[in-house]
Amino acid sequence: MKYKAFHKLSYGLYLIATQFNGKNAGFIANTVFQVTSEPSQIAISCHKKNSTTEKILESRIFSVSVLKKDASTSLIGQFGFMSGGEMEKFHNIETITAKTGAPIVLDSSVAWFDCKVISSQDVGTHLLIVGEVIDSDVVSDEEPLTYAHYREKYKMLSPKHSPTYIERERLEEENKTETEHRPEQKEESSGATNSMDVHTCTVCGYQYDPEEGDPTAGIPPGTPFEDIPEDYRCPICNAGKEYFTKN
Ligand code: FE
Repeated sequence: MKYKAFHKLSYGLYLIATQFNGKNAGFIANTVFQVTSEPSQIAISCHKKNSTTEKILESRIFSVSVLKKDASTSLIGQFGFMSGGEMEKFHNIETITAKTGAPIVLDSSVAWFDCKVISSQDVGTHLLIVGEVIDSDVVSDEEPLTYAHYREKYKMLSPKHSPTYIERERLEEENKTETEHRPEQKEESSGATNSMDVHTCTVCGYQYDPEEGDPTAGIPPGTPFEDIPEDYRCPICNAGKEYFTKN
């Protein structure tokens, strides 16, 4: 099986939200699609261990915000890589309340759908949840974000709970031959690196400044990014060191 073939499937990127017991919950997903037009129904694939999934099943409502092409990376980091149990994801996020009562995130969105859960299908690690669209609107005429664009721009892989998650090792194995043909390029880029350059996490936008270090991870001020341990993770979204780019 060729895992890279899965990257040829096209998707958008969406923020799915719900409200249960007066508390908002939400996450970012690429697996959202319309299943029928009469009635208008939308399906979403949700990981069983995702805390929002449970709340959608209890509340029987969810909203889908379609993210725009230049959606804020901190919004993606906050809703795509953090668990609702770890932080209040909706803090400082502009929402409106849909007819069903679900919160709708307008930030970085071009359109939204308000849905009532009709059915759910157990597909192993995930649940395929089908919702009838009760209401919808267009927020802006900007271009929606495609998953391919997101992956290419941020050199990202799907988070572990995504239905489209592929183990990094599997992709690296497939990429091995390709990288072996470009040894000179590697030398050039490492030679051009300035040790005191600020590096930005492409997932959430956090900036690592060598002059400040990262006290939360025990990295003292004056530590160049290159000297940080390889298992260093972003203090905001937990993305690995490989997700940082030089400013
Ligand atoms: Fe980050």
